[in-house]
Amino acid sequence: MSAGALGPPLAEPVVGRLAIVGIGLIGSSIARAARERGVAGRIVCIDRDPAVVERARALGLGDEQTLDVAQGVAEADLVILCVPVGACDAVGAQIGPCLKPGAILSDTGSVKASVIAQLKPHLRPDVHLVPAHPVAGTEYSGPDAGFATLFQRRWCILTPPEGTDEAAIGRVEAVWTAMGAEVERMSAEHHDLVLAITSHVPHLIAYNIVGTAADLETVTQSEVIKFSAGGFRDFTRIAASDPTMWRDVFLHNRPAVLEMLGRLNEDIAVLAKAIRWGDGDALFDLFTRTRAIRRGIISQGQETPEPDFGRRR
Ligand code: NAP
Repeated sequence: MSAGALGPPLAEPVVGRLAIVGIGLIGSSIARAARERGVAGRIVCIDRDPAVVERARALGLGDEQTLDVAQGVAEADLVILCVPVGACDAVGAQIGPCLKPGAILSDTGSVKASVIAQLKPHLRPDVHLVPAHPVAGTEYSGPDAGFATLFQRRWCILTPPEGTDEAAIGRVEAVWTAMGAEVERMSAEHHDLVLAITSHVPHLIAYNIVGTAADLETVTQSEVIKFSAGGFRDFTRIAASDPTMWRDVFLHNRPAVLEMLGRLNEDIAVLAKAIRWGDGDALFDLFTRTRAIRRGIISQGQETPEPDFGRRR
């Protein structure tokens, strides 16, 4: 096998049999990246939708593709759930009794405490739960949307419950590292608080701004589209993200999102006051601080410095 964009295949696979449940953007990207790096001896792709299973087969994702989740996970050494956060209880109930002793169960959900609470009751003590969240994605969904380099130079956060087997955590870490990600560990609760402000609330703001613009009576929808300035366009990209996934994120990270929204509302009130009273210094100081944060993100390689992301006008 020749070296792909992620580098040459590993000398030895990290796991024997890898089962991926949910072959959407994230699941299909894992299938592609794991194949390219030779992460697993055999890759099984599982989805509940016959059209997705068929498409995964046509795209050559994994070595096997199946609708039968129980059979698909039965012999797996590592199972990665790539389904919406709200589906974890149902999927956990289906697969829990079928997992082999010593199997590792992981996931990719954007919320962690809820996923652990949903999965744990379905697992025997001889199954290792190592939850994960790759902080990488796009606004597209489905098996065609994935690509092997999605996780390259992106963070993957592991939130293993206290007392989780270190060898199991090490295996999951090795899988993500092989797929190009940088791995960090934290508690599920801390993850949910951090992601509420860096990801969940920004998505809520985007959904809100685009929704408000669409509802305006004095500006027609065609004007919103025709004169969409850079700022608004950037929000529309985020607001085009998968409705099921994001509904579940907000329903399953309620306390942290509501805490951050409370803070945000207070800060917006301060900004409104500065504008009303003509306090240019307050606005200038804030905008200077926020510009530095953007530059920090670029200097850490998490974003491109290209103006307007190099889009054509
Ligand atoms: P996606 O493209 O919509 O794919 C999800 C797949 O899971 C779909 O094929 C869906 O089928 C399937 N599915 C749903 N419920 C299922 C069930 N009960 N059993 C089997 N398959 C089921 O979603 P995604 O963007 O890959 O997201 C997957 C997970 O990764 C989510 O938990 C999300 O929070 C997380 N994540 C997403 C991003 C992102 O930017 N998209 C980034 C990081 C993490 P149906 O179409 O029939 O429902």
